[in-house]
Amino acid sequence: MGKITGFMEFDRKVEGYAPVEERIKNYKEFTEPLKENELKNQGARCMDCGIPFCHSGCPLGNLIPDFNDAVYQGKWQKAAKILHSTNNFPEFTGRLCPAPCEEACVLGINEDPVSIENIEKNIVETAFKNGWIQPEPPSKRTGKKVAVIGSGPAGLATAQQLNRAGHEVTVFERDEKIGGLLRYGIPDFKMEKNVIDRRLKVMKKEGIEFKTGVHVGVDVTATELKQDFDAIVLCGGATVRRGLPIPGSDLKGVVQAMDFLPQNNRKVDGIPYKGEELTAKGKKVIVIGGGDTGSDCIGTSIRHGAASVTNFEIMPMGTTERPEGQPWPFWPMRLRTSTSHKEGAERVFSISTKHFNGDKDGNLKSLVTVQVEWVTAPGQRPILKEVAGSEKEWDCDLALLALGFTGSETTIADQLGLEMDPRTNIKASVSNYKTNVPGVFVAGDQRRGQSLIVWAISEGRQAAHHVDTYLMGQSYLPLKGEGDLPRV
Ligand SMILES: Cc1cc2nc3c(=O)[nH]c(=O)nc-3n(C[C@H](O)[C@H](O)[C@H](O)COP(=O)(O)OP(=O)(O)OC[C@H]3O[C@@H](n4cnc5c(N)ncnc54)[C@H](O)[C@@H]3O)c2cc1C
Ligand code: SF4
Repeated sequence: MGKITGFMEFDRKVEGYAPVEERIKNYKEFTEPLKENELKNQGARCMDCGIPFCHSGCPLGNLIPDFNDAVYQGKWQKAAKILHSTNNFPEFTGRLCPAPCEEACVLGINEDPVSIENIEKNIVETAFKNGWIQPEPPSKRTGKKVAVIGSGPAGLATAQQLNRAGHEVTVFERDEKIGGLLRYGIPDFKMEKNVIDRRLKVMKKEGIEFKTGVHVGVDVTATELKQDFDAIVLCGGATVRRGLPIPGSDLKGVVQAMDFLPQNNRKVDGIPYKGEELTAKGKKVIVIGGGDTGSDCIGTSIRHGAASVTNFEIMPMGTTERPEGQPWPFWPMRLRTSTSHKEGAERVFSISTKHFNGDKDGNLKSLVTVQVEWVTAPGQRPILKEVAGSEKEWDCDLALLALGFTGSETTIADQLGLEMDPRTNIKASVSNYKTNVPGVFVAGDQRRGQSLIVWAISEGRQAAHHVDTYLMGQSYLPLKGEGDLPRV
């Protein structure tokens, strides 16, 4: 283990942030990394628990105490090997993961948990800086061809694993660049896009073929792909947005978050975008929805120069501490405050939007809300009740709908005759990622519904193992947590 008394000697420390007034002037990442000796001390805090709950908290089963110890000992290259043995893209999770491992860390029972995510990010950044991340092409090819549809984290993880197993992998992506929501959903201030490009360079050298601007189901049918490839892995995400079917939702100024954010990411990248410009400049912005997407709309609106930004959340305000019914090591549903929230948004909880009001030209001018409460009768599910007399009108000229996604698109499913599950995801068992059609697999948000990057990578890795088994009769690709610890 790190240092036996480390957790008693050192307090938790995490990276800092540039001041708000500086960082909102551009779209760059604004974290201020810990120094090497500080990271060593953070690694030293790890107790190398007999039963490391951090493992089970992490959807990838990352070998956390092992890389913590390597960092404490200053063995960064060893740490990078350990980290990559269970996670293809720690540079994504090290920046963007909500870190369920930290909520499950044993030290978190009565102290601040180990700064696992910051350690992860610094391991991979050190590895890139020192040139330790090199292409790992397979020593021989199997002659089997696999099509991966969708290039988000699930598609990329699937592709890298299957390529390393020796299969010829082609990734089809309908957008103009690779990355899925990493590129077109998540703003640059959370992750600059050169982080994706850097990894793609390595993957291309490993022999993976990327075809962008190909909409499978439209430009080429899924049935045609099925004939040309030995296996297909669907990684198309959960892209169907939830709407807000209330009066006035067709007014100019009521905008889907997933129109607003991708357009902004294209602007930052200098890529032409379709349709008229969506800007928050000088506007009274209301972001409806309190999750990651809502938070990203807040940070983006502030950088546009919005006059004000207000964020509505239908759920009550959470507690900062763990709620009573969600003890360690479970993931607690508590109040989460992002860096964007801290940039100047007013947050309003337990609120529901009733209708939008516009002017005679169809422009959004205001919206009307009510306060709500969740009422639970014994043995029943909680129901939403409006608080009488709580109507309020809010001036608003840009309402951003960040209400989540309702599941997968169905074009490919229709073409191949795939079964959907009751939540409109493509149906496949978590035990083998197989759909009802032989040779067709599904992973990531398209199988599990709207989720997290870490889950998408995990599903991509698991699915690759099962595709490899389908093609070859057996697979040496690791399943969750089966990292290969280096003996250096
Ligand atoms: C705004 C926003 C912010 C988020 N922030 C975070 C965060 O901070 N941390 C976190 O962990 N998670 C976050 N998430 C969730 C996370 O991004 C997703 O869970 C994750 O990207 C899912 O990965 P995926 O590979 O399954 O799908 P996606 O990333 O959605 O990728 C699917 C890809 O498939 C392509 N595609 C779909 N259909 C076709 C087709 N027919 N032909 C060709 N290509 C196709 C799409 O164009 C897309 O590129 C966020 C989500 C959003 C929307
Ligand atoms: S649970 Fe926390 S202290 Fe224990 S091994 Fe994992 S990171 Fe270290």
